[in-house]
Amino acid sequence: MRVRYLILHCSDTEDGPGLSWPAIRRYHMEERGWSDIGYHYGIERYGPRIAVLRGRPPWVRGAHCRAAGRNRDSLGVCVVGKFDEDPPSLGVYDATVQVLARLAWAFHIEPDRVAGHREFDKRKTCPGLKWDLDKLREDIMREMVELASGNAVMGDVRWLI
Ligand SMILES: [Zn+2]
Repeated sequence: MRVRYLILHCSDTEDGPGLSWPAIRRYHMEERGWSDIGYHYGIERYGPRIAVLRGRPPWVRGAHCRAAGRNRDSLGVCVVGKFDEDPPSLGVYDATVQVLARLAWAFHIEPDRVAGHREFDKRKTCPGLKWDLDKLREDIMREMVELASGNAVMGDVRWLI
């Protein structure tokens, strides 16, 4: 799969104290009958840290954005939480910027091709109305400049991938 976009989602579930990621995977496999969780990466608060979680391998087509045929050419990144009324915490926001900037770098994606699900599917609010997607792209661009200069600092994010 040629990756042209990164698409941000939310789980639209409360982020409880434990890891919800395995339950999301079970739901997608058992209730929806998919071969695996629909997303490629997850971001979830877990105790004092933010965890980056593994979903489908990035070379496998996801099941996260049927609109505009985007499952064919994008990676799906899901932040656990509900964000229509409350914005993500600063920690989750920063981790999302850091993770998306690194994925964009690795997959040769310009920041303007990092999108929110709702930008392709107008019926949805995903990843939540409180995500300012233009600001997110600006912050990703800034982080990529830091990466290029060798000055980027990763926050308290634990990569489980
Ligand atoms: Zn979505």
